Amino acid sequence: MILNEEEQLILATVRQFLEKEVEPVAIEMEHRDEYPEDIVERMKEMGLFGANVPEAYGGQDLSYTVYAMIFEEIARVWMGLAGILGTHSVMCDVIARFGTQEQKQRFLPVLTRGEKRGAICLSEPEAGTDLQAIRTTAARKGDHYLINGSKMWITNGRRAEMLLILTKTDKDARPVYEGISTFIAEKGAPGLTISRDIDKLGYKGLETCELLFEDFRVPAENLIGGREGEGFKQVMTGLESERINVAARGLGVARAAFEEAIKYAQQRRTFGKPICEHQAIQLKLADMATKIEASRLLIYSAAEKKDRGERCDLEVGMAKLFATETAQECALEAMRVFGGNGYAKDFPVERYYRDAPLLIIGGGTNELQRLVIARNLLKKYSIRDS
Ligand SMILES: Cc1cc2nc3c(=O)[nH]c(=O)nc-3n(C[C@H](O)[C@H](O)[C@H](O)COP(=O)(O)OP(=O)(O)OC[C@H]3O[C@@H](n4cnc5c(N)ncnc54)[C@H](O)[C@@H]3O)c2cc1C
Repeated sequence: MILNEEEQLILATVRQFLEKEVEPVAIEMEHRDEYPEDIVERMKEMGLFGANVPEAYGGQDLSYTVYAMIFEEIARVWMGLAGILGTHSVMCDVIARFGTQEQKQRFLPVLTRGEKRGAICLSEPEAGTDLQAIRTTAARKGDHYLINGSKMWITNGRRAEMLLILTKTDKDARPVYEGISTFIAEKGAPGLTISRDIDKLGYKGLETCELLFEDFRVPAENLIGGREGEGFKQVMTGLESERINVAARGLGVARAAFEEAIKYAQQRRTFGKPICEHQAIQLKLADMATKIEASRLLIYSAAEKKDRGERCDLEVGMAKLFATETAQECALEAMRVFGGNGYAKDFPVERYYRDAPLLIIGGGTNELQRLVIARNLLKKYSIRDS
């Protein structure tokens, strides 16, 4: 992958920041489940909250390949930190692609500077994979909409100041997706309760919440794109960029696990030699490294297709599926290489093992990715018209 000078500089700056300012504190803050306030401030200064925003609105407008590389680097050091950026950047993507000119001008510069940060509210207690089954409604009342319902698993739900909310504006529409609309809501109006922070296995340092909307008022001009019924398409496109960032996070976690494992394997000795000289350990290292390299190539290939403006749900689905399953496998294999130490909080491997499963669930489960992949393949290889 050939990067221009500016892209190389951006990545070098991100790596240096992670090494100097995040790595030394990541383990302890993660164990305390502490929100990294100062680190987030530095990320704002570095322009990371506008990584995928067009330059016209103050953003960096980076290619998806560089965007993926940044997520890989951050997740390699602390996956939760990548989560603070992840849903925010999906919100930026949806507004930049589908927002009206007025919405882009009003929201993107503020999001880019990180003055306000975004969360995406799609999932509900009764609807995650099947997003068309959402029950949250938005009813028009003159110059505003009233939103009612509840959203579940909302990452950044407490600290984000702007919410992208998927709603039903027409419960009887057929097909169902034509009754779905998306809104940008700024916190402050009455009717929104953050009902709880969900206690999680991993993905620590940032909050994941349940949100309750009761006659929550959103101005009509905040309907994304200005037309009802477009929300499902907008969110599905936004999820392509989320799957690239989730895949890249998988790559970051897998790489971290591998790097720890290959280092430890050269230090730890059993039966008179370093464990890396036992063939059983070598097989693990070889498999981990091969799958990591394959993940990287799948991610870059999907990102390039997205940069060309082509439909890429097949490629993005493959990248997300493979890279995140690889993260899960590498985290477990690293734990085996570490033996008992892999299970101890003194070493980082147990953290990778707790962080990796979210990646196979979030951004659309890997079961769903397989369905999307198969659907695309059946279309591509259809024998109906031949
Ligand atoms: C830590 C965390 C953070 C999250 N952050 C956010 C966020 O910021 N915003 C947001 O909107 N959501 C968020 N989510 C929600 C996440 O997107 C959903 O959990 C995910 O989409 C799965 O939905 P579900 O949990 O309702 O599972 P379900 O949809 O109930 O699925 C349960 C199981 O059934 C399988 N399944 C479902 N349908 C099919 C089918 N047709 N064929 C085969 N298998 C199927 C699924 O793959 C899964 O294995 C987050 C989740 C977690 C755990």
